[in-house]
Amino acid sequence: MQPIDSFGNAVKKLREAGKLLGYTEENITKLSTPDAVLERPITITLDSGEEKSFHGYRVQFNNARGPYKGGIRFHPNADINEVKTLALLMALKCAVVNIPLGGGKGGIQVNPKELSRAELERLSRAWVRAFFADIGPHKDIPAPDVYTNPQIMLWMVDEYSKLAGKPSPATFTGKPLENGGSEGRSFSTAQGGFYALRELGQKIGMRPRDTRIIVQGFGNAGYNIARIANAAGYRVIGVSDSKGGIVVASGKLDPEDVFQYKEAHGSLQGYTCATASCTVDENSAVTNAGLLEVDTDVLIPAALENQIRADNVDRIKTKAVVEIANGPITPEADAVLFSKGIPVVPDILANAGGVVVSYFEWDQNLKNEHWTEEEVLRKLDEIITREFAMVWLKSREKKVDMRTAAFIISTQRIAEKMGL
Ligand code: NAD
Repeated sequence: MQPIDSFGNAVKKLREAGKLLGYTEENITKLSTPDAVLERPITITLDSGEEKSFHGYRVQFNNARGPYKGGIRFHPNADINEVKTLALLMALKCAVVNIPLGGGKGGIQVNPKELSRAELERLSRAWVRAFFADIGPHKDIPAPDVYTNPQIMLWMVDEYSKLAGKPSPATFTGKPLENGGSEGRSFSTAQGGFYALRELGQKIGMRPRDTRIIVQGFGNAGYNIARIANAAGYRVIGVSDSKGGIVVASGKLDPEDVFQYKEAHGSLQGYTCATASCTVDENSAVTNAGLLEVDTDVLIPAALENQIRADNVDRIKTKAVVEIANGPITPEADAVLFSKGIPVVPDILANAGGVVVSYFEWDQNLKNEHWTEEEVLRKLDEIITREFAMVWLKSREKKVDMRTAAFIISTQRIAEKMGL
């Protein structure tokens, strides 16, 4: 298979939106070019006393709407192209939910599982020293991403505050609750995805209790959306993790029980009820590829990119898709789903709950406030509901899929602030 050019694909989509808006090539170039692509060595002393350098990145894509915002990932495959793509998508994501932030992303090419806790702390602090002059609460606000977490954000805030000579919690989001983090942040991506699912159901006439849901991926985002949807009365009939999945064709799963089983056994393999109150008995094992092809009402990819492609899209039997993972559908498969009238709520809208609550965290830090979970979720609901309606309407008006509509809205919002 040809390697997928994700930056090229994102720019292609942006160009398509720009053309529909009547923008010139010149302006499309301005919109699709990052403000800064920073790459610096991150050098630490290992526990052995040896020095080691890693590639460190920060891409600041666009700050026309507010300070750059985006996570930092520690991953062996992190490279500048990936970081650039994610930074562009962050700019569009913040614009589509209309929060006053721009787009950025960062990372280190490293396998954090090979480092001790002390080495990981030194690496996190070294990243901050390398990019200190480029970040800040009104300049660029990083957050956790793949293999980075609230503890890493705490080390980073501490390092930044030492260098700045004053406490600066608003420079990073995704901090632990007791250190300036926001209520609801840990499940905010799933919560936002759930609001998008609920709004979609209302548009296409699916009542919760009659809506069967399949979730690919049972990590932070996948487990939480399954849990929230189940609590709201939806029928979760299938879930999977990297080892495979389970499907209950005629009944429904209890995501809390599945979670308990996964905690106890490390994966979903061989799932049987973990708690006494669970009654599911006719579940069957299914492969990851097979799970995507099960007859359902809503499919929620919440694991990896490029899961629905030209080679399997014809076997997908869902009536709708809500993209919690970033980029789970290739452009070719997207076109096929659109031609079959299968609505797809795109990642930049469906998984924006995380960045919206990050924005709330930043706002609370700057105002020295702490909002209740109820307040956070109410504000998140308002934003996702309002912007879902905008994207839905635009897709009808322009006769395009919801991804194109979301790109049109976000591109236009950024362009306006750039004065294009
Ligand atoms: P996670 O690491 O907590 O969970 C990932 C899950 O996917 C795990 O259960 C893993 O077993 C499963 N998985 C891996 N390979 C799989 C495969 N081939 N088939 C099925 N399942 C597989 O990650 P997460 O935070 O839940 O993120 C999941 C997706 O959502 C990613 O694409 C991420 O970029 C996106 N996302 C997450 C957030 C967030 O706040 N957590 C925000 C925006 C986007």
